[in-house]
Amino acid sequence: MDRTLRHPCYNGGCKNARIHLPVAPSCNISCNYCNRRYDCVNESRPGVCSEILTPQAAAERYLKAKAVIGNLQVAGIAGPGDPLADFDKTGETFRLIRELDPDVIFCLSTNGLYLERYAEQIKEWGVTHVTVTINTLRPETGTVIYKEVTYDGAVYSGAAAAELLLEKQLAGLKKLRELDITAKVNTVLIKGVNDDEVEDVAKTASGCGAYIGNIMQLIPAAGSAFENMPLTSNAELNEARERSGKFLKQMYHCQQCRADAVGALEQDRSAEFSGDNSEIKPDSSPRGRLKILVTSSDRRVINQHFGHADKFYIYQYEDGTIRLLEVREVSKYCNGPGSCSDEGEKITQLVKATDGCDVILTMRIGLEPERILEQQGKRVLTTYGFISESIQKAASYYLGKKKKLRAKRELASQPVG
Ligand code: SF4
Ligand code: SF4
Repeated sequence: MDRTLRHPCYNGGCKNARIHLPVAPSCNISCNYCNRRYDCVNESRPGVCSEILTPQAAAERYLKAKAVIGNLQVAGIAGPGDPLADFDKTGETFRLIRELDPDVIFCLSTNGLYLERYAEQIKEWGVTHVTVTINTLRPETGTVIYKEVTYDGAVYSGAAAAELLLEKQLAGLKKLRELDITAKVNTVLIKGVNDDEVEDVAKTASGCGAYIGNIMQLIPAAGSAFENMPLTSNAELNEARERSGKFLKQMYHCQQCRADAVGALEQDRSAEFSGDNSEIKPDSSPRGRLKILVTSSDRRVINQHFGHADKFYIYQYEDGTIRLLEVREVSKYCNGPGSCSDEGEKITQLVKATDGCDVILTMRIGLEPERILEQQGKRVLTTYGFISESIQKAASYYLGKKKKLRAKRELASQPVG
């Protein structure tokens, strides 16, 4: 079957699984929406820290995943920095995996700076699908989005950086077309910055041979220069996709995956495979281990009332690394006025579903469940924010020493409601 039809990102109807191998932590540009403690925002969800693997460890993880995920068809490298800024590790990873599996589809995502230079090599590795992030065609917009670009040791900033990056991105796209490599163009939609440019990007990308476009919401990464940027609604996102779709077919099902995602797009199984052979921990965070339950409607932000959640996400924090351990389905104990006749029993069920957890991070919680949980020795914090960031702060609060008071203050000061 055509490789594009077998790739779940390029074909929305395809339910095959993919694995992202986080072997490439370096980057050669500096995006203002990036916080380098986390995965590259150009492909991934901000606030997520992927562990970094050696190429050998990545090949081992591929084998492990292949053994248990029957429909694993794609191996990709999406950072957590730029795969072409860590060219050797990226190439070695593909080489090792090809020895293990002649049929798996290879893809990578890049900011495009070194794409033209390495396109032939990418082809030789057997990569058939490449994502390039192009956010703007205008240097004046590029100066807002990019802080600097480092090319062959020289550091560029301002319009020179934006012009150089765009020139390389477009040349890279054309080279992919020449080499018959299928290209996807990601665009991070930044409200008030490039939202009136997405159609132009799509049109130009199409002219350079791109197969599909993928407009992604900017989710402001804490600690980045854009951390206070306004959010784009789903309606605005879909409207931008519709406008751009006139020029270039658009992806509507991107999950903004982790750089170490494993499984089908809708069901990340990375927790099953992570933590065994990581080379580098993402952060020098407090040492210790906590099992943390969060309530979230989208698995990005802690934004749900404890009693309204139908799932509990259970994470483990260990020495700075955060992993999703399991998702527990729970029945709602409060469905609104008139539905609380047996509330006591529902609270009991919900509290039972927190078994084994040390900390509960939730947007709101009723007095009674909070009282019971605290009686059981669990720590309950109400907050609103990105899951990873909130877990880090909770860990600082409960495990750290110097940061203890600050973390408590920051968690408490996040808006609720
Ligand atoms: Fe960060 Fe990715 Fe931009 Fe590099 S390309 S600065 S890793 S968002
Ligand atoms: Fe596919 Fe989007 Fe996930 Fe990349 S981030 S693997 S394009 S769904």
